[in-house]
Amino acid sequence: MFLGIDDTDSPDGMCTTYLGAMLAENLQRAGYTLGELRLVRLNPNVIWKTRGNAAVCLEISGGTPEAVFNAACELVEEFAEFDCENTNPGVVVVNERPDPAFYYQALQRFCTIGETVRRLEKIGALYRGYKCGRGLIGALAAVSSVLPDATYELLAYRSVERFGTPREIMAESFFASAAATFPHTWDTVDPAAGTVVCVPHGKDPVLYGIRGESPEWVKRSAELLISEPPAFSQVWKTNQGTDAHLLDYEGKPQEGCSYRIDGVVADTPMTECGGHVDFLFTPDAGGPNLRVFAFEPTKDFRHTVRKLQSGDHLTLCGSWRKDALHLEKFRANTLRPARVRKSPKCPVCGGRMTSAGYGKGYKCRSCSGRIRTQEITEQIRGIAEGWYEVPPDARRHLAKPIARIQEETNSLRE
Ligand code: ATP
Repeated sequence: MFLGIDDTDSPDGMCTTYLGAMLAENLQRAGYTLGELRLVRLNPNVIWKTRGNAAVCLEISGGTPEAVFNAACELVEEFAEFDCENTNPGVVVVNERPDPAFYYQALQRFCTIGETVRRLEKIGALYRGYKCGRGLIGALAAVSSVLPDATYELLAYRSVERFGTPREIMAESFFASAAATFPHTWDTVDPAAGTVVCVPHGKDPVLYGIRGESPEWVKRSAELLISEPPAFSQVWKTNQGTDAHLLDYEGKPQEGCSYRIDGVVADTPMTECGGHVDFLFTPDAGGPNLRVFAFEPTKDFRHTVRKLQSGDHLTLCGSWRKDALHLEKFRANTLRPARVRKSPKCPVCGGRMTSAGYGKGYKCRSCSGRIRTQEITEQIRGIAEGWYEVPPDARRHLAKPIARIQEETNSLRE
């Protein structure tokens, strides 16, 4: 059977993965067999998410669905942050994985509570929605999920008595661990900014999260870390870092959807008030020109965006929100050579020539020599073809890091 849980936390504490990991441990102690534990990220643009729009799914065998459902509801009732207006937990148990269409809808588009309840009824699921029941959307999406591409995250959780206190970590060990396991792990640190990015700062129970390509790599990386002792840890199979949220663009952007869009830069990127950089983009798929933004928190990524020029052919990845594409990464497919026209040098005396008038070529002021052609030089663009992404701090959980794209390209070549 599959158990889905969502929407148990608030900015003041808790984390649905923590609740899921505790439940997995309780069930195992009670004699159940736990299969795959999944952490799925859903549409990053839903406005009522607490942090990263996560939901969990536990694969369980042994016992009855009713007993598992009751154990999950008891734990949710004990630990969920019910006082927060935005916390509306949902618990779902099904015997078989439902149609993945609902997962894709929750991942790439939007769902309503009403349609979720109708589906739950239709498939005969055990379900309970608390308060407005919005968490049922994530819970049903989690049990319906399919992961054609998957990564892993080892989440280490804090001891209860440390909740709300500053996390004690030795930053150097995180840099050393990242260096020793890259590119098989990613987003542990941001080497350019010199910061540790895998340790949250809020009141939630997570001590750190190590992301990587396999359970072995994330465990190996965690073994190299020096920190306060974690209470326990859990490796989750996830859709993080897979670009699963991206739709292929078909010419009409929809609010709150994320796209992969091929097209051409239509004007010179400009720096706006607040340090945001934007430009116009003409999609190959047709439709209107799109305004594209690299926002201030994307830091040095904006310097690369500023180097783009009208005519460059790119593949953009990002979310469409409030009439603009919020850029996550892009690939420079072909860069227009930058040509600078200069007046030529005089072939007789070597001096610079000046225009002799429209269509009349050039003449030399010193020796009166004449020539018809112009001198054209190529300018250095300062950007090469290839992928560019926002720094780890500004990265979406679902966005595939370039390190993964390059690994795939290398293994295809081998
Ligand atoms: P948590 O750790 O509790 O899961 P979170 O940051 O992941 O925190 P939630 O608190 O779960 O965010 O809030 C997200 C809410 O949005 C949930 O109730 C979930 O069911 C709902 N939701 C997720 N995806 C969609 C979607 N595509 N359309 C509508 N609602 C969605």
